[in-house]
Amino acid sequence: MNADISSSRSTRDWQAADAAHFLHPFTDFQSLARKGARIITRGENVYLWDSDGHRIFDAMSGLWCVNVGYGQQALIDAAARQMQQLPFYNAFFQTATPPAIQLAELLAEVTPPQFQHVFFSGSGSEGNDTVVRMVRRYWDLLGQPERQVIVSRKNAYHGSTMAGASLGGMAAMHAQGGLPIPGIVHIEQPHWYQVGREMTPEAFGVHAAGWLEEKLLELGPEKVAAFIGEPVQGAGGVIVPPDSYWPEIQRICDKYGVLLVSDEVICGFGRTGHWFGCERFGSRPDLMTFAKGVTSGYVPLGGVMVGERIAKVLIEQGGEFEHGYTYSGHPVACVVGVENIRLIQQLKLVERVRDETGPRLAKLYASLRDHPLVGHAETCGLMGAIQLVKDKSDGTLFPSELEVGMVCRGHCFGNGLIMRAVGDRMIVAPPLVTTAEQIDELGRLIAMCLDKTWADVKANGWV
Ligand SMILES: *Cc1c(COP(=O)(O)O)cnc(C)c1O
Repeated sequence: MNADISSSRSTRDWQAADAAHFLHPFTDFQSLARKGARIITRGENVYLWDSDGHRIFDAMSGLWCVNVGYGQQALIDAAARQMQQLPFYNAFFQTATPPAIQLAELLAEVTPPQFQHVFFSGSGSEGNDTVVRMVRRYWDLLGQPERQVIVSRKNAYHGSTMAGASLGGMAAMHAQGGLPIPGIVHIEQPHWYQVGREMTPEAFGVHAAGWLEEKLLELGPEKVAAFIGEPVQGAGGVIVPPDSYWPEIQRICDKYGVLLVSDEVICGFGRTGHWFGCERFGSRPDLMTFAKGVTSGYVPLGGVMVGERIAKVLIEQGGEFEHGYTYSGHPVACVVGVENIRLIQQLKLVERVRDETGPRLAKLYASLRDHPLVGHAETCGLMGAIQLVKDKSDGTLFPSELEVGMVCRGHCFGNGLIMRAVGDRMIVAPPLVTTAEQIDELGRLIAMCLDKTWADVKANGWV
């Protein structure tokens, strides 16, 4: 009992077995096999340990999900208890389990008032598959079956299933597997630093939202079912839209009767200093996808909050909705979700991010703007992005083949920090339990890694 399997084999031994059998997600298999994966064996609070005993500050919360930090006993105990009592039962056979019902009730409480119903999935990608099925079904039921098209954005991330990757706007993903599927189109992202700097952020936000209206008019609004977006684009590089963007998107969706879908897989459950990103940015979505932070990643769970406008039609006119997953409402996942939300409430994590740690991270990032490598640094709640540039004065980027972001990421890894590189944008999303002192610790680590990267850049003659 309780034998720690991680210490039963050496790092090299784990790496060899990993390379021999495990195809990792979003990975160049051959190149990883050559290097050997880093084997993570333990977590506590905001820290991880690898199989060589190195401590690492996990400033990515696993993969944007471990919001309450590692080792929260309430979540662990709840899962163990539920596994003993009833590890699984489905919700297909006109049956339900108490954890699924409780979580549905609690989600209705913490989400904006238009949300009283939830459809559970096992992940964020599956949640977005549900969104596609549901919005098209909704318009069918209303006698407007021609409303099929879903508008999304370039460089968006909505998951990796056929529908998720199609909704997403990642060119490299579309290039593999014949994507996007029909009926999904993309507009430009609201990336002020990259394309909008000749305007004020406020003016650019309105301008960028206008691309949605242009697209609707080009397609014919009567053919468009929905618009989907992340409040802040996460995997795309923590791209924070100007405050004027979402209210204008809302106005355009309202004007043409198009449904608004907020993909809250990252922004939900406190990440922005509000319960949901749509509340931070002032939109009123008809559907919200969630996953990641709903269980703080302790077990997989996702779903879609279904606004009353849609729920009413599906319930009163829909008949059977021919869609669902074996794990829709999985009792162990749901019980962890319930405990996780209660913990967020008890620890007042949303308020802490809004009033204390979010502003502290913002101040830290404002000070990083003076660094010679940093063209731009911005935050939203507990998310941050640092744009590395060749020339601060005009924002000229490094040639992408230099992979300066990867150089920086290497220094982070080597110095006990997980900070992710999206091209030359360095991003963080630390756990929401991160304390003010730990934000300062993060600041020291980031500054050190930027300095080391700058030293490399100069030594290589890249500036
Ligand atoms: C991670 C993510 C997804 C996909 O979630 P999975 O659980 O990996 O399927 C969808 N949308 C956003 C915004 C995400 O960040």
